[in-house]
This record gives sequence, structure tokens and C-alpha cells, in this order.
Amino acid sequence: MSWAATVLTLYPEIFPGPLGHSLAGRALKEEIWSLETVNIRDHANDKHATVDDTPAGGGAGMVLKPDVLAAAIDTAAGEPARPMLLMSPRGAPLTQERVLQLAEGPGAIIICGRFEGVDERVIEARNLEEVSVGDYVLSGGEPAAMVLMDAVVRLLPGVMGNALSGEAETFSGGLLEYPHYTRPRTWEGLEIPEVLLSGDHGRIAKWRAERSEELTQDRRPDLWAAHKQTKE
Ligand code: SAH
Repeated sequence: MSWAATVLTLYPEIFPGPLGHSLAGRALKEEIWSLETVNIRDHANDKHATVDDTPAGGGAGMVLKPDVLAAAIDTAAGEPARPMLLMSPRGAPLTQERVLQLAEGPGAIIICGRFEGVDERVIEARNLEEVSVGDYVLSGGEPAAMVLMDAVVRLLPGVMGNALSGEAETFSGGLLEYPHYTRPRTWEGLEIPEVLLSGDHGRIAKWRAERSEELTQDRRPDLWAAHKQTKE
């Protein structure tokens, strides 16, 4: 059975967008995963198809109505039960670990907010998991949903040409990845590190492990501290 994504959005025409190309696009054609969109506006319940309203308590912007959003969520929910994710800057930061868990499951229902966000009661009543793609604010959840699906889809069996290329990757061992090089051997006077041309697999592995640790220490003290702790 293929990994099934259902995206709830006010802009279904945005999808699949970048996910229709390259690895993810090929996998979509091959039905390794599927992508269905639900237009939240189709679940409005008045003749103007109203999806938002002014914030209780006042202030700028508009808030997605709970009744309309819940109706959209309820049509998407079904068997097998899938995690219901609300893209939100307040959510738990998305990690490779969570991405891997999602890839091992049946799929996901992904809700894209707009405007000031969604009525808090829907989050509670439908037990939505809030997921953030980073500490910055987007104008809508759609790019965040694409980030999440892209990260998941590349891990699905049969998507990456070389199944091993995911293993040494950044974050997989809690470290950033070592640097890559390819031909030409000399480019703008810059050489490929000699060890990589040595054919000595032991030395190469050691060099890569060292660069990986060095980069992590340098750029991501947070990851480095966590890595040292798990090693102890
Ligand atoms: N007023 C809200 C931000 C609303 S941004 C707040 O301060 O929390 C509008 C929508 O964009 C959100 O509902 C969410 O779906 C999406 N969004 C914005 N930033 C995001 C992020 N970092 N990660 C995931 N989704 C995000």
C-alpha cells in the first residue's frame, strides 16, 4: 500500500508543485505515494463560502473557522487512521526522527493554515499535532506541508536510487554530513582532498567521520552536545 497524503488547504492548485518533479514526482507516478487535496472552502456552510472570521478579542487578521475546518478534517479522516498534522510555527520543530516515523506509517493528513491561523478549539477537538518547519513565519502552511512531504517521500522504499545514500546523511547519526567532491580533480585551482583519491576505504571513512564531527562541533553545538551525551 502506498503512503497516502491528504492535504487540507485553501489553495489546492498549488499541489503537487515541486513534489511533481524529480524523485518525489517519479514516486508519485509510480504510486509509491499518493497525494490528495481537500479544498477547505468546499466545506463552508454559507452561500458566500466563508472560511474565516475576525479574531475574538480583537486584533489584526482573520482566523480560520472551527466548524468549516473540522468538516474538512472529518471528510479526510478514515481507515487506516493517519496522524493529523497542523502546520504551525508554534508546533514541535520537525526532525529527521519524526520524518522517519511518518515514513514508516500509512501516511498523514496535513492541514495548512492561512491568515492568523486556526481557531484553537479545532486543534483541541480533533487532537491535531502541531508541526513547525522552523523558527520563522510563513504566510501559509502549504510550503511547510511540501517540506514535510518531501522529507518523508524520499525515505519511502524504492524512491532513492541508492538505498544507502540516506544512511550516512546529515542528522541520521545526529551529526552533519561530511563534505562531498566530484570531478574535475582540480577546479579553479582547488583540489579534491588527497585521501578521497587514495582508494583506502579505511582512511576515507576516518577522514569523513572526522570532518563530520568537526562540522557539527563548529556549526551546531546543540547537535554536538546531544551526540556526545548519547555516546557516553
Ligand atoms: N499568527 C500565527 C502565524 C500564522 S502564519 C502565529 O503567530 O503563530 C499562517 C499559517 O502559515 C499558519 O497557520 C501555518 O499553517 C503556516 N505557518 C507559518 N509559519 C510556519 C512554520 N514555521 N511552520 C509551519 N507552518 C507555518
